[in-house]
Amino acid sequence: MKNEKIYDVLIVGAGPSGSNTAISFKNLDPNLNIGIIDKAIFPRDKSCGDAIGPGVINALKRFNNEHILDDEPQVISTSLFGPDDIGIQNYIPKVKNKDDSVVYVIPRYQLDNRIFNIAKELNVESYENTRFVKYENTEDENILRVEVQDSENQKTSIYTKLLVGADGANSRVRKSLNLKQNSDIHKAIAIRAYIDSPNYIDIFKERTLMFEINVSALKGYAWAFPSKGDLINIGIGMPLNLFKKDNMDINQMLYQFVNTLESKGVIVENIRMEKSYMLPFASSRPKLAHDKVALVGDAGSMINPMSGEGIFYGMEAGYLLAKETFTSLDGTDLNKNIKRYEKALNKRFGKHFLSCALARLVLQSPFMTKRLLKIASIDKNTINFVVELLFDEARLTLKETFLLSAKFILPFKTLRFFTKSPSFSL
Ligand SMILES: Cc1cc2nc3c(=O)[nH]c(=O)nc-3n(C[C@H](O)[C@H](O)[C@H](O)COP(=O)(O)OP(=O)(O)OC[C@H]3O[C@@H](n4cnc5c(N)ncnc54)[C@H](O)[C@@H]3O)c2cc1C
Repeated sequence: MKNEKIYDVLIVGAGPSGSNTAISFKNLDPNLNIGIIDKAIFPRDKSCGDAIGPGVINALKRFNNEHILDDEPQVISTSLFGPDDIGIQNYIPKVKNKDDSVVYVIPRYQLDNRIFNIAKELNVESYENTRFVKYENTEDENILRVEVQDSENQKTSIYTKLLVGADGANSRVRKSLNLKQNSDIHKAIAIRAYIDSPNYIDIFKERTLMFEINVSALKGYAWAFPSKGDLINIGIGMPLNLFKKDNMDINQMLYQFVNTLESKGVIVENIRMEKSYMLPFASSRPKLAHDKVALVGDAGSMINPMSGEGIFYGMEAGYLLAKETFTSLDGTDLNKNIKRYEKALNKRFGKHFLSCALARLVLQSPFMTKRLLKIASIDKNTINFVVELLFDEARLTLKETFLLSAKFILPFKTLRFFTKSPSFSL
């Protein structure tokens, strides 16, 4: 180890969680030595719906990096469809904790590269085509040795004071900590594809995120998200336990959804780049804080169990980790502060994740989905709450649970009498 370079922080994985961890440390203290490794060469594709909402915009604004969204078209509404073709369209409400009520749909091939480039511009040292193999303690109790391997299987060592696992849903860092993957009930499987559609925006009257719940994806949802030009990201996602139990075929569901889009008049051309992947839900998070090691993003199971959104939570986790630890990388307080990171994350998102997990269970029933969409079509508060669960940090309080339960139980006519400001039914 003599004369070897020692990083203050070494991050495994240059996705949004890892890159934003690096960006946050460098902004909080530009003198820190930060390294980041990724097994891929960027730009690289990642199976995703490509939708980023107010949370990601805020995370970028924190260090003045929102310019990477310049020239991207804004999506301004959501259109939810359920069984029996019940549909409602709603503008993305002003969310409480964020400034912007818009969503962008940017292929991850571009988005991740832009965020990674911000880290590189801050002099974060990056090693692409470099795979994490394992780590171990050294004779210096403050320093870890990390073994990495290039594509020719050449192994080398990198030394660091803090190791961050930001290596996604199949995290090898998580495995080296002897932590199990999420069980099937706390995981989803999803497939993404791209299509070209010259008339998607005309059919839905505006740039809208389209969700179809419990139809093409029984007990899950299908999506169509408009990106730049004619490019549309489509996909299907559902809980893995139900997918396995009913022996389903995800490609077939995707093609069924294409038929649904066509039946609505959407022209679908050039279906391509179908790719499926796992989503570890935040309803079951592993221990994130370990001896000189922390997990962020999908590696630490941080995906919203209702919406499937994970980019925001991973980026925010990276910031929280940096904020809690950047002053203690040389001291004896490091482990204590890694634990403070885990506490801060749980405090901020614990109840929100739980509320989203409950909402997901309710929406697994086609009956409840129909009922919810019916209620939402006459009651703006309900649809706003659903959209806040999707795009903000809403949580179910006792009052909210009581009000929502009452709305589910009350006869529809009585409910209509008491409610105001209908959403726009499709
Ligand atoms: C089909 C689908 C649709 C989704 N839609 C959305 C959406 O619309 N919006 C949203 O916010 N979220 C969505 N998600 C979730 C989102 O994709 C993840 O939450 C997000 O990618 C997490 O970012 P990350 O940086 O933690 O991990 P990743 O983006 O997976 O990045 C991990 C990085 O680690 C690298 N890596 C892995 N193993 C190693 C190793 N051993 N050594 C070195 N490097 C390694 C990988 O190459 C990769 O670059 C979706 C997920 C799926 C599967």
